[in-house]
Amino acid sequence: MKKIAVVGTGYVGLVSGTCFAEAGNNVCCIDIDVQKVDKLKSGQITIYEPGLEKLFKRNVSEGRLTFTTNLEEGIKGREIIFLALPTPPGEDGSADLKYILSVAAELGKLLNEDDFKVIVDKSTVPVGTADLVRKTIIENGASPDCFDIVSNPEFLREGVAVDDFMKPDRVVIGYSNEKSKTIMGELYAPFVRQGNPVYYMDERSAELTKYAANSFLATKITFINEIARLCEILGADVDMVRFGIGSDDRIGKRFLFPGIGYGGSCFPKDVKALVKSASDVDYNFEILKAVMNVNAEQKTILIPRILGYFDGNISGRTFAIWGLAFKPNTDDIREAPALEIIDDLLSKGANVVAYDPEAMENVKNLYGDKIKLSNNQYEALDGADALIIATEWNEFRTPDFDKMTSLLKNQAIFDGRNLYALDTMRKLNYYYSSIGREIIK
Ligand code: NAD
Repeated sequence: MKKIAVVGTGYVGLVSGTCFAEAGNNVCCIDIDVQKVDKLKSGQITIYEPGLEKLFKRNVSEGRLTFTTNLEEGIKGREIIFLALPTPPGEDGSADLKYILSVAAELGKLLNEDDFKVIVDKSTVPVGTADLVRKTIIENGASPDCFDIVSNPEFLREGVAVDDFMKPDRVVIGYSNEKSKTIMGELYAPFVRQGNPVYYMDERSAELTKYAANSFLATKITFINEIARLCEILGADVDMVRFGIGSDDRIGKRFLFPGIGYGGSCFPKDVKALVKSASDVDYNFEILKAVMNVNAEQKTILIPRILGYFDGNISGRTFAIWGLAFKPNTDDIREAPALEIIDDLLSKGANVVAYDPEAMENVKNLYGDKIKLSNNQYEALDGADALIIATEWNEFRTPDFDKMTSLLKNQAIFDGRNLYALDTMRKLNYYYSSIGREIIK
């Protein structure tokens, strides 16, 4: 059993803290958001993540998982301190390290020599951050002998975060001191019992690994999105093309689904930050610049199609949107393509009625009464001029088409996630526009 503190109790902090507790460790999660901590202390979970609530409740009730807003109290007697703090994009696109460095400064004042601690960067941070955190802690009064820094980037995916954390494809540990390497190895041993690798490396390589992983995945999505655009022009079907290439092991089937661009709290900011890190050392990361541009266009690709269908004027028309989260199985709407579509529709004078199984509260906080939210997917269609699909939640995959037909004013679907077979839509007499496939008219 290890005694752990996790500073920052958001998506990564809460999942990591809960899963470490589930493996038998004693974990205190710390956050400055008083409301969030009060809610967690009262036994209520603060994010939607499949499977998390059960583990959260069990570990809270067994006393292995506690919460506080007080850093000093939270780290007392704990050997490992994870930093799971935000690293949002700054104005120039670089990762803003103010949250990390302010906690590092506070830690510098709190650490003492009788109590060695491993401070672990779990946030996604640019190369050199481990050095910067070390320097900040020392400048604020701590002796270099009373702590060590480890870089342990997190690869969990929202929506399957618990599974990813409990059985990671790999664990990356950037270290510069054998003692910390051993402590981290012991901590992760229960999570890699099936034999998945733990890669030990220097801190800088660990930091870059996370950016390289996310940037590669963003590039793969963007590549198939461009192939999809070409399919539309050349009269090919992107589904056939993706089957044809994905069966090659070197390419792989995953992350080859065309759509309306990547969003979320990670890919957009991490691609941007890597481009900025590269340009800071006079390296022009051309591929990633193209990825950012193509993705920005992809996010609004449905709008001209919708305008085309309605002869260029959608003012006063009502659009139903299914799916608001940036991907299924999460309530996270950060940089979600649905939001750009909503903004575009509203700016053109249209009305929006939206439904999402989990993300409606977050959308309500953002839009207030500018858009209508429905209680279920069908209610959103009642009297709507067309349906737009922005997120591929499972419940949208095999809907009751008869019911849809009776509710929609026009039989028109703009599907940003390619949920339906073209033949089905043809038989149902729908106008159906998807990504990289023939338009059914
Ligand atoms: P988040 O915004 O959900 O959570 C961050 C938490 O830190 C918030 O609850 C905030 O209140 C808290 N916080 C801010 N300042 C604090 C302070 N001084 N003391 C204590 N708490 C403080 O962010 P997230 O999505 O969990 O991401 C955290 C990091 O992990 C980021 O660097 C992100 O890039 C990375 N990451 C995220 C994911 C993901 O899927 N969300 C996956 C892998 C890596």
